[in-house]
Amino acid sequence: MRMPIVKFQRGEMVMGRWPGSSLYYEVQVLGFDAKSQLYNVIYKDGTELELKEQDIKSAAGFQTRSRSRSRSPGRRRSRSRSPARIARRLTSHTAAAVAAITDSASSRRDTRLKDTLEVRLSPLQQTKADVNNSKNKHERKEENNMANKLNEMSDAKVEAEPEKNQARYNLRRRKDDGSAKPAVARPEQLEEEVAKMAAAPAATLSTPLDFGGKIGAYFWLLFLPSWVLFLVMQVNQEDPSLVNFPPPLPTLEAFWDAQALCFVILWILFQALLYILPVGKLSEGMPLSSGERLKYRTNGFFAIVVSAVAVAAAVHQGVDLTYIHSHFLQLATASFLISVLLSFYLYVRSRYTSLEQLAVGGNSGHELNPRIKDFDLKFFCEMRPGLIGWCLINFAMALAEMKQHGLDFPSNCMILVNLFQLLYVVDGLWNEEAILTTMDFMHDGFGFMLAFGDLVWVPFTYTIQTYYLVKHPKPLSLPVLTAIVLLKFVGFYIYRKSNSEKNTFRRNPSDPKLSYLKTIPTATGKSLLVSGWWGVVRHPNYLGDLLMALAWSLPCGFSHLLPWYYMIYFIILLVHRDSRDMSQCRRKYGSAWDEYCRTVRYRIIPCVY
Ligand code: NDP
Repeated sequence: MRMPIVKFQRGEMVMGRWPGSSLYYEVQVLGFDAKSQLYNVIYKDGTELELKEQDIKSAAGFQTRSRSRSRSPGRRRSRSRSPARIARRLTSHTAAAVAAITDSASSRRDTRLKDTLEVRLSPLQQTKADVNNSKNKHERKEENNMANKLNEMSDAKVEAEPEKNQARYNLRRRKDDGSAKPAVARPEQLEEEVAKMAAAPAATLSTPLDFGGKIGAYFWLLFLPSWVLFLVMQVNQEDPSLVNFPPPLPTLEAFWDAQALCFVILWILFQALLYILPVGKLSEGMPLSSGERLKYRTNGFFAIVVSAVAVAAAVHQGVDLTYIHSHFLQLATASFLISVLLSFYLYVRSRYTSLEQLAVGGNSGHELNPRIKDFDLKFFCEMRPGLIGWCLINFAMALAEMKQHGLDFPSNCMILVNLFQLLYVVDGLWNEEAILTTMDFMHDGFGFMLAFGDLVWVPFTYTIQTYYLVKHPKPLSLPVLTAIVLLKFVGFYIYRKSNSEKNTFRRNPSDPKLSYLKTIPTATGKSLLVSGWWGVVRHPNYLGDLLMALAWSLPCGFSHLLPWYYMIYFIILLVHRDSRDMSQCRRKYGSAWDEYCRTVRYRIIPCVY
């Protein structure tokens, strides 16, 4: 059967661009899909990809780099950051390169970003037999030490089980491949390659722009601050019922208070100081697309303890924290200004950074891990000023409630919400390392959405319940209080256990503590858990989150909808995160993900996907 008339014919050897890079490798055309207008190509190691026509060039137009050049150790060292080095890495990644030529025309970052390929990873079909039911420990060891496995795969095994090996995903170097790489690589080379293999798909797959793309970006820029403004003003009304919508707009001057701006700046600087103190351990992040693992100072628990002592000392010295309640709007405005300035700075620096540093998730062109020396801006903003600030605001709301109602102690509903949310934050800081394996951290660039979310959204909207309770405290009977506490702890247990299980597994797949778990191998070198919490239901952590969010809202009663805002928002957030994660995992893991979904049928968020 002949292919339709297309530029490249089936069987033809051509040069195909490796997704997300400007490197070309020799590939063979397998076919052309007229509907999607994509060529199905195969690399020498068996990796199949679908490429657009503009990402394929005829082999005749390419020059192969002379091997004698790349073999010179001196040259290798001096070119350690050169595209040739990247080429060598990719060579080992795909184990298929015959030539890696950089595309000089694509030196401008903008163009390169725009050009990022839309590819679909098409791993070879995985059989049911690949679902590892009995050799989990072995599989995880295999994942953890992929390099050894590459060499261990003996010819005999390949010959004995040709079909089985054919059926498995194949991104690994074959023993018989004639690539330029030496047969036995140095251990450190292998380690680097393994790390890269695990990280590469996230960096090579092009994903659609999130949050409505460019138009969406303008929309969110206007909508999010307006929404915070609405919430703050609506809750502050004597009767915050929605029939009293819209709340009266304050004058422009009411938004601004220089003192409030100073307080916010001081708070951020204080948290930054705690962050840089050489206290607490240095944790390693997940491998980046370069194979590098960044180090993070995980001293969040120390930071919240010191902050609590400092706040207690300030109150003891007569500082009136109810200022936070009475100047909530001005503090929110000040934080918003800082988040805009920060976003602007992040945007500008992302224009001058290398393509390797940019997040591919969303293709928004933002840096994945912007740092000033060792100071990681994303990690700091995600975990410190907003999160600890959330607890500070809650505490201030409890003091404001006591002041307004002449109480010696806050109401029991105020105490509940304060303690519940404090537990959530303290737990997050105690397990700070776990954030390094979350979606935000591994895939999302640091720009306005995260900066605003960290510095404004979290501290000024997650405190809506305590803000509401200042004016509307609700007495809770003992049985109701007990039921709410139970609900909170059940939710917390599920949340913590499931998040920790995944985090431990991702950090060390061969951790003996997890040896009883079953996994599915994937083409990326990572495996997916199909037993334990992640085998009961997809995203079990979201169930814990939802139960906890319910426990935070119940103490506010049912007189008004507004304190339930967090619950409603959280459901929407999880629906969005869940569907985004599902499609990202589908792209990353291909049919291994389908296999996971067939094995683990239930999901917390019933979505269209
Ligand atoms: P998850 O922690 O659920 O991470 C999803 C990732 O886990 C996937 O991308 C995949 O990454 C990995 N994964 C999925 N399935 C499996 C599996 N079967 N085996 C192994 N790995 C798997 O996502 P989030 O970052 O959304 O959430 C982290 C926590 O933080 C949640 O509890 C969430 O609710 C909470 N959260 C709370 C917020 C709040 O405002 N209160 C905001 C955001 C999050 P890969 O395979 O690449 O490792």
